[in-house]
Amino acid sequence: MDSTSTSCKVLVLNCGSSSVKYKLYEMPTERLLQEGNERREPDQSFQALLDSIFRLIGHDVDMMAHRVVHGADLFPESVLLNEDVLRRMESISYLAPLHNPVNLEGIRLAQLHYPAIPHAAVFDTSFHQTMPPTSYLYSIPYEYYSKHKIRKYGFHGTSHRYVMQRAADLMGMPLEKLRLISCHIGNGVSVTAIRYGQSYDTSMGLTPLAGVTMGTRSGNIDPAVIPYLERLEGVGTEEVMHMLNHQSGLLGISGVSNDIRDLLKTAGEGHERSRLALDMFIAKLHQYIGLYFARLNGADGIIFTAGVGENSAEIRERICSGLEFAGVYVDTEANRSGHSERLISSPYSPTKVMVIPTNEEIVMARDMFQLARPAQSFYMANDSLAAVSNES
Ligand code: AMP
Repeated sequence: MDSTSTSCKVLVLNCGSSSVKYKLYEMPTERLLQEGNERREPDQSFQALLDSIFRLIGHDVDMMAHRVVHGADLFPESVLLNEDVLRRMESISYLAPLHNPVNLEGIRLAQLHYPAIPHAAVFDTSFHQTMPPTSYLYSIPYEYYSKHKIRKYGFHGTSHRYVMQRAADLMGMPLEKLRLISCHIGNGVSVTAIRYGQSYDTSMGLTPLAGVTMGTRSGNIDPAVIPYLERLEGVGTEEVMHMLNHQSGLLGISGVSNDIRDLLKTAGEGHERSRLALDMFIAKLHQYIGLYFARLNGADGIIFTAGVGENSAEIRERICSGLEFAGVYVDTEANRSGHSERLISSPYSPTKVMVIPTNEEIVMARDMFQLARPAQSFYMANDSLAAVSNES
C-alpha cells in the first residue's frame, strides 16, 4: 500500500473450473492496472495455473476480492474472510457443486500466496436476498425450505447490481424511485425485477439452471420430465442433469450451436431448427419480462447487458418489438449504433430501454475496498508506527 496516500491495489479473482479471470485495480481511482483470462491446460493443476497468475501479478497487492457463486441465505452481503466464514461457505457448497468448491480452492490458495492482506468473498446470490418469500419460495412442503434451504436464490447478482445503478444515472432518476427489468443475456441468462434498488424477483432458482432458455441450459421445464426421461432412456439423474445443463437450450433445440451469432447466420440461411431456437429464446424472455411488468405493476426501464444483451442489436430489437403493450419503443438507429452504454428507446417511449455493458469486477473491487476500510486504517496506522519507529 502506498503509505503517502489512501490509494491501494485490489486484485479481483474469478476462479472457474476451466479458467481463471482476474483484474487488478488501483482504488479508489478505479484505474485498471492489469487483467487476464487464463485457461487451464489439459495437464495443468489448478494450483499451477493460479501460481503462474500470481507470479505474473507479483506481490504488490493490498486486498483481494473473490467471486463466489452461491452464498445461499448465509451471505446477504460481501464479507471479509476468516476461518469461521470459510467453514460456513463450505457448509453450503453442496448447493453449487460445479462452482463453489473451485471458488473455495481458489481462496485457500490465494490466502497461502498472499497471507498478510485482507480477502473478501462477493456472492452472485447476495443481491437477491431482498426478494420476498412470495418470489423465493417454491410451492412444495414448507419443511423442505426450513430443513434443506430449498428455495430460489438467483444469480448474476453482481451484474444486476452494477447495471441498475448505471441505469439510474443514465435516466437521471434516483434508484429508489425506479422499477427496472434487468436482462443479463449471455451464455447464462437471467432476468431480474428490481424494485426501488432491490431485487424483487428473478428468473434463476436454487441453481443457475432455472428460468429462460440459455446457451446450453434448458431453463424451466416441468420437473416430471426428469423421471419420465430416466425411465424412457434408461439413464440416471446425473445423466439427465448433464443433458439439461450442457446439451439443452439453444444448442439442444437447434442442434447447431449455443452461440446466437451462429444461429442468426444459420437461421438466415434457412435452417429451420435454428430459427425455432431463436424464436423460443425470444418467447421465453418475453414470458419473464411480461411477468415482471406484472410483478412490478409496470416498469420505468429495461436494461440489456452481457454478451448477447450488449452486442446483438437484432435480438434486442426482436425482444422489444413484442413489448409495445408496455410502452416500449426502440429507436432503431440508437439500437444499432455502437457498443457503449446508452439509451436506445425513442424519446417518446414511456418505458426507457438501455444497453449497459456490465462490470462485475468493479463492483467486487468497490466492495472489497469498503469492507477493508477499518483494516486499511489499521494497516496505515501500523505503517505510520513503523515509520516513527524507523525514524527513532
Ligand atoms: P457472456 O456469457 O456474457 O460472456 O456472453 C457470451 C455469449 O455472448 C456468447 O456465447 C455469444 O452467444 C454472445 N455474443 C457475443 N457477442 C455477440 C454478438 N455480437 N452478437 C450476438 N451474440 C453475441
